[in-house]
Amino acid sequence: MRNTLIPLLLLLTAFSHPARSADNVVLITLDGLRWQELFSGADTELIRDARYTRDPEQTVKRWWRDTAAERRSTLMPFFWDTIATEGVIYGNRALASPAAVRNGRLFSYPGYNEILTGAADPSIDSNAKVPNRNVTVLEWVNRQPGFEGRVAAFASWDVFPYIINEERSNVPVNAGFEGVQEPRTEREEWLNEIQAQTPSPWHSVRLDVFTHHYALEYLRHSSPRLLYVGYGETDDFAHDAEYHHYLDAAHRADGFVRDLWTFVQSDPRYRDRTTFVITTDHGRGSGSRWTDHEAGLEGAEQIWIALLGPGVKAHGEARNTAEVGQDQIASTVAQLLGLDYASTRPVGPPLPRP
Ligand SMILES: [Zn+2]
Repeated sequence: MRNTLIPLLLLLTAFSHPARSADNVVLITLDGLRWQELFSGADTELIRDARYTRDPEQTVKRWWRDTAAERRSTLMPFFWDTIATEGVIYGNRALASPAAVRNGRLFSYPGYNEILTGAADPSIDSNAKVPNRNVTVLEWVNRQPGFEGRVAAFASWDVFPYIINEERSNVPVNAGFEGVQEPRTEREEWLNEIQAQTPSPWHSVRLDVFTHHYALEYLRHSSPRLLYVGYGETDDFAHDAEYHHYLDAAHRADGFVRDLWTFVQSDPRYRDRTTFVITTDHGRGSGSRWTDHEAGLEGAEQIWIALLGPGVKAHGEARNTAEVGQDQIASTVAQLLGLDYASTRPVGPPLPRP
């Protein structure tokens, strides 16, 4: 019996190895962007509320349209002209397609830990700069044959080097107000220069334009196979109760995602071989609580997840689907790359890909 068991196990292992859909994955997060704005555009009450919108007349003119379909296309055109026609978007609760955070904390470090590791860790109870004891899918993929040194992360929030545990993982993380240590291009030199000269509204989060262009430049010169890009402005403008800035930031982030997609589809190393996975770390409250997210605040567990590229059928907006979880993202990223992360540890299963 012993002798037949081993070949059988090998056979099962071979079959459990998922087929690769993409050679490369770009994982993107937009911090604290509500599903309400993604699926319905500007909120009818918040946009006209002088407590949240400095110049309601201007903001209404810029973002208000009569139907939710027009409002969302105006706010986030790439999601609605490209992802919704060529990919899939989970999370529209108005169409009975819920997506949710599994950790009970409903703030950033626990959320990014869940996205990047595939499991909620109840011991993470603050945003403090503590090196993550958990191994992220970035770290794990970076150890797989063919992926060594081909994983990198860029983020606006300065806690990411700890969440990804840059020191242990050997995944390079450029975050916060960090420049590129040894610029390889003129553009990186220039980004370093103007980043140091640009005023920032926040002390721990840089403006997304720097994160974006550092990431794009890295894609151009280093050809990572798994790139993580974490944009941050949407959350910070929301905490500042500045709805007009929050909407503008969502619109810019949509443009950044389009920019990344346009680049990969124009580059022979990436074209038609690269899949995007896009999500958020948490939801937010509604009404006057739209600025907040915390354990127990209704709505803060509600998120959205979008997929675009090889391995993802053109399904559009998901409707009438079982709830999908934030803990399913890490195993999905690995599965798209043909790697079986899910059987190595207790994590959420890969997302159903209709
Ligand atoms: Zn926040």
